[in-house]
Amino acid sequence: MTKFADIQILHYKVPGFEALPLRTKLYIYHLSEAALWGRDILWDQNGRYNLRIRRLLERILPQTDNEDFHTYIRQVWFANGIHHHYSTDKFQPRFSEEWLRQYTDDDELVNVIMNPEVMPKRVCQSGEDLIQGSASNYYGEDVTQQEAEDFYNTLKAQAPNPDEPVAYGMNSRLEHKKGVLHENIYRLGGLYTQAIEHICEELSLAREYAENPQQQKVIDLLLEFYKSGDLETFDRYTIEWVKETEGFVDFVNGFTETYGDPLGLKASWEGYVNYRDKEATKRADLLSANAQWFEDHSPVDERFKKKECKGVSARVVNAAILGGDLYPSSAIGINLPNSNWVRAAHGSKSVTIGNLTAAYEEAAKGSGFREEFVIDAGTVAQIDRYSAVTDDLHTDLHECLGHGSGRLLPGVDADALGVYGATIEEARADLFGLYYIADKKMVELGLVPDAEAWKAQYYSYMMNGAMTQLVRIKRGCVIEEAHMRNRSLIAHWCLAQAEYWGRCFNMPPALELIKRDGKTYLRINDYITLRQYVGQLLAEIQRIKSEGDFTAAKTLVERYAVNVDADLHEEMLSRYEALHLSPYKGFVNPVYTPVTDAEGHITDITVSYDEEFDEQQLRYSKQYATL
Ligand code: ZN
Repeated sequence: MTKFADIQILHYKVPGFEALPLRTKLYIYHLSEAALWGRDILWDQNGRYNLRIRRLLERILPQTDNEDFHTYIRQVWFANGIHHHYSTDKFQPRFSEEWLRQYTDDDELVNVIMNPEVMPKRVCQSGEDLIQGSASNYYGEDVTQQEAEDFYNTLKAQAPNPDEPVAYGMNSRLEHKKGVLHENIYRLGGLYTQAIEHICEELSLAREYAENPQQQKVIDLLLEFYKSGDLETFDRYTIEWVKETEGFVDFVNGFTETYGDPLGLKASWEGYVNYRDKEATKRADLLSANAQWFEDHSPVDERFKKKECKGVSARVVNAAILGGDLYPSSAIGINLPNSNWVRAAHGSKSVTIGNLTAAYEEAAKGSGFREEFVIDAGTVAQIDRYSAVTDDLHTDLHECLGHGSGRLLPGVDADALGVYGATIEEARADLFGLYYIADKKMVELGLVPDAEAWKAQYYSYMMNGAMTQLVRIKRGCVIEEAHMRNRSLIAHWCLAQAEYWGRCFNMPPALELIKRDGKTYLRINDYITLRQYVGQLLAEIQRIKSEGDFTAAKTLVERYAVNVDADLHEEMLSRYEALHLSPYKGFVNPVYTPVTDAEGHITDITVSYDEEFDEQQLRYSKQYATL
């Protein structure tokens, strides 16, 4: 098992791949190759020196056994650049400048690597000029935030079809050319053409093995988009992609998420391929088929319920390959496309990636984490026994039903909750899931093994929200990310309720944080009452959303979701550090190898899992080097 800095590397399996028909294997294989060929695009998008630095580091690697250097190169590989994948802070190497200078006389690179003042942050969220403050490479070196905003505001104002706006700026670097701003487009013959040519070649090969004409249409439009860089073509491509729901295999390949651009315009390259997990998809279908029942029976006020409720066509998939911005660190649930008008008019596709969550669950079991933080052995055993089922089920409830439930009152603006909107929305979906995972309907539908299973989910969820997720927050910082805020909100609101009602009735609270031998634990005294709190909070959060009650959203989030108890935070970090566990995890891809006969025809694709992280990174750098 590979571990370094704050990272642990996991392997994921591709269940059932061997038994697939050759044609399907070939389809997956060529789509996977297309997903791997974009690697260098992301490296360059993440910072203008990244590719040069990677080549330098990989040249030094065989010449040294310096541990600090080895950690550094692995961090850089993992982050696809010299900034941390999550915090976006620049890595500070533990080796000295003098040591590095033994291997290179490139002053520019030495300065970028060693000097903490240079490019300290990949994505800068506050300051005078967000573009100038960010090391990401989406804008020319001398482009200012003001110039970029003016440029894109002008484009948006001139949009020929303002109701169906394209994602302006998504697929280009904005640069000065002879003093004039212009977009250097990512496309064949344009920026990154060397990588895009290979991507297109593999997509064309994959097209031969597509499962249905709609998949061919999707690939044709994607190829057309890579050729022209035209954003209307991109929207047409995503619309056809959303419609394609019959196939066993699906994929994402292209410029997708905008987290790497401080202005939220420019999209990083990512690629992945998935195939259906048939058993688990049945589970999601079962939930969707009962969507109206769940809506009708929820503890929410009748005025806020949907009269006609359709479950989202979520499906559970297995990842076959992860590439670009989904590798080595990956999301476990993906909902695309991102265009609001496309989603409103044509819907979206939502997946949870079952084989990745299985790999996480495998890593959590027996890591010592539960033994350290969970209150007693009985509860640990319960969580070990049920969580593989209940975690996935909670995710399904969240994705298939939670986000889709409820309605806004007429005239309420969908953006009324402003900066608190994302946290409230995630809380709504999580609470919907928590409320129903405890319902006897789950046993009736055969989705949980028995009527005790939900308690494991309640315990892990509340422990995470109240305490253990703090291990991902740096000392002295507050909670910023919307999902983390939502978990904190739910756990702390329930704790506050329990304390209040416990005091009123002079009874033990339904749940509480207790100290034992100087360590804090969550104790749940009354699961049934805790579920009632979950129902009450769901009703209130839905009211806030339906009415667009900004003040109430703000109060809840500011009171329960953001702040961190400094003592508890320190305790969590030190207990966690003592376990030597890694807060961040990522994956090594399986290796697919074509088997050929005497005439060179591919007769099979085999899969193996024995490649380790360093080996895979070095191979990718060699095999998929384009820029
Ligand atoms: Zn969500």
